[in-house]
Amino acid sequence: MEFNLTDEQRMWQSAVHDFCEREIKPNAAEFDASAQLNQEAFRKMGPLGLLGLNIPEAYGGAGVDAISAAIAIEECGWADGGTALSVAAHNGLGCTPIAQYGTEQQKERWLPGLASGEGGLGALALTEPAAGSDLVGGIQTKAKKDGDSWVINGSKAWITNASYAPLIVTLCRTDPAGGSKSLSLIVVPGYAKGLHIHPQEKKMGVRASPTHALTYENVRVPLDHLLGEEGDGLYQTLAILDGGRISIGALSVGLARAAHEESIRYAKERVAFGKPIAKRQAIQWMIADAACRIDAARLLVYKAAWMKERGEFFNREAAIAKLFATEMAEEVSRNAIQILGSYGYSQEYPVERIYRDARLMTIGEGTSEVQRMVIAKRELGDE
Ligand SMILES: Cc1cc2nc3c(=O)[nH]c(=O)nc-3n(C[C@H](O)[C@H](O)[C@H](O)COP(=O)(O)OP(=O)(O)OC[C@H]3O[C@@H](n4cnc5c(N)ncnc54)[C@H](O)[C@@H]3O)c2cc1C
Repeated sequence: MEFNLTDEQRMWQSAVHDFCEREIKPNAAEFDASAQLNQEAFRKMGPLGLLGLNIPEAYGGAGVDAISAAIAIEECGWADGGTALSVAAHNGLGCTPIAQYGTEQQKERWLPGLASGEGGLGALALTEPAAGSDLVGGIQTKAKKDGDSWVINGSKAWITNASYAPLIVTLCRTDPAGGSKSLSLIVVPGYAKGLHIHPQEKKMGVRASPTHALTYENVRVPLDHLLGEEGDGLYQTLAILDGGRISIGALSVGLARAAHEESIRYAKERVAFGKPIAKRQAIQWMIADAACRIDAARLLVYKAAWMKERGEFFNREAAIAKLFATEMAEEVSRNAIQILGSYGYSQEYPVERIYRDARLMTIGEGTSEVQRMVIAKRELGDE
């Protein structure tokens, strides 16, 4: 048992932290207000390795270990939830399917551009207007073979980074008969004829991360854009989401840490009834609870990442980490608003934005209810 990060991990943490402190955090409120992606920060992320966390060095990525990837996403979350969500979606959802299931040729073709950031950001389109948690039963987007192409028709909803994506990995039904072998992942170029990317959704939080509905109208892509084997889409998606859940857990730890730091700073400064509110036990308890829960969440995130790195089955641990960390972040940022009183409710201070950002985390990449279903299934042994 070893709780210390390695020297390499510590150096990585410090480099990413410095970058986030300099390039992301100072402008977080501005990009939240304008609901725009911080493109300048993204341009600088490629050289640092932040856009190729899961991409091997052979294809231009940083190829860091799973704990280092979690460290990077926590730092981004500490700086800004919206930017962090786009970084997490790019790496965990957009790049991972290709890095994990692509052929040599597909990896050589698509990964270097994604890792450098020069080709834009990665995106994964699973959710549909009528299907989120229930992908097997609900997916209606169809891909049919026609000569040397797939022809794709359907709609997707809530797709992160779609307007910046050179390619959108799309979950399609390739067998109309249904069932667990009826879905496949197909890489669709962002510029494909018949692909309509609708205007950005107007959201409560993570506003610096662009989210879009998509329509596929007879979109033709070559047959060799299929990832892995036809019919493997569900199994691939579930594995990708397990990794993504570690990421959302790490992002939530970062959000909570930022809210916690702001609460401590404010509590030491704000005087009420003759002394700083930090001297009041009611405030101290909220701060102590936050410290315990942030540490516990980070340990759960690291444990799941550690298992992933060792090649172990980490479905249960990823769900536990995501569930605990996201609900923790919501509570910690809620209490941070309480500690700041009226100022906490103001856009002048970051905690209201963190609270809005944290609210998404219990929904995206599997709701809290879905995480509880996954955990209960593992506990009860119900295969
Ligand atoms: C900002 C943002 C970014 C996103 N980015 C992406 C992306 O990049 N790619 C992508 O594919 N999707 C993305 N999503 C979609 C997201 O992953 C889904 O919204 C999420 O999986 C939930 O699906 P749903 O909204 O359809 O809810 P539903 O599945 O309709 O669920 C509605 C409610 O019912 C509950 N519920 C459902 N089934 C059960 C059950 N069996 N038992 C108990 N309760 C249940 C859910 O927990 C939830 O509370 C994004 C969403 C947002 C808001």
